[in-house]
Amino acid sequence: MPQIIDGKAISAQIKEELKEKVSRMKQDGRTVCLAVIQAGNDPASSVYVANKKKACAYIGIESVSYELPEEVTQEELLALIAELNARKDVDGILVQLPVPEHIDEDAVIRAIDPKKDVDGFHPASVGALCIGQPGFVSCTPAGIIELLRRSGIEIEGKECVVIGRSNIVGKPMAILLLRENGTVTVTHSRTRNLKEVTKRADILIAAVGKPKMITREYVKEGAVVIDVGIHRNENNKLCGDVDFEDVAPVSSAITPVPGGVGPMTIAMLMHNCVESAALNL
Ligand code: NAD
Repeated sequence: MPQIIDGKAISAQIKEELKEKVSRMKQDGRTVCLAVIQAGNDPASSVYVANKKKACAYIGIESVSYELPEEVTQEELLALIAELNARKDVDGILVQLPVPEHIDEDAVIRAIDPKKDVDGFHPASVGALCIGQPGFVSCTPAGIIELLRRSGIEIEGKECVVIGRSNIVGKPMAILLLRENGTVTVTHSRTRNLKEVTKRADILIAAVGKPKMITREYVKEGAVVIDVGIHRNENNKLCGDVDFEDVAPVSSAITPVPGGVGPMTIAMLMHNCVESAALNL
């Protein structure tokens, strides 16, 4: 039987550690505060925002939230970000994506002060990651590194294959694995002979956005398989990019969906907020 990598338990452990750290910071008179902005009322975004605020409350991070109407202008949104950038009591700024269509998402991301960019999406944060300088790292890939580390899975020297090259998952994932001294291959929709490439992987990360696409034909016997995908199947049940039932028996360790990578994303967001406050940037 493979090791089932329990993201729920590991994220709970991280949240406990953060809670303790925040409480120690409070004793020294230091608070942690995250500003959360949601523009429009996309139901999925509302759920994500509510979960983030709930995690803040649990850990002892203050959250200030701004629910802006769908028709908010780009100028208004950028003005709010500028105000939050200037506020000494705000350690992190999160704009829930996607923003309404008439707003330039890149301009919004660039407007956030990199010192408060707890999502790690600002070009300065991404650039810092690429050249090994300090900066915030995108939460989902950072959470995957933490999952591997806390599950006792070594990355150094391993063949790591990432399926997907998005800016928020695939690309930062590849850089992080490289930083951990993995030998990294990034595959994508134009990759030829995908199965041949993925079968080389000791550690396979699926961030392809296609429900249950990764079956055992893509996986080397004994590989570690990390499933980033989140989908709802025909019965409204959650599933990943990996066909868990098919792949689990040939893997040495695997993340389930739900309860694998998903819970780690919020835990790492909380980690970034606490880090921002602790560094007092
Ligand atoms: P995306 O759609 O931006 O990127 C998908 C990538 O997969 C692209 O780079 C594309 O080139 C590649 N791809 C598409 N079809 C392919 C194919 N047939 N063969 C090889 N590569 C192919 O998606 P994303 O934002 O990176 O997210 C990926 C998945 O992870 C989605 O299911 C998303 O919902 C999920 N996700 C989960 C979390 C989390 O917290 N667990 C966070 C972000 C994204």
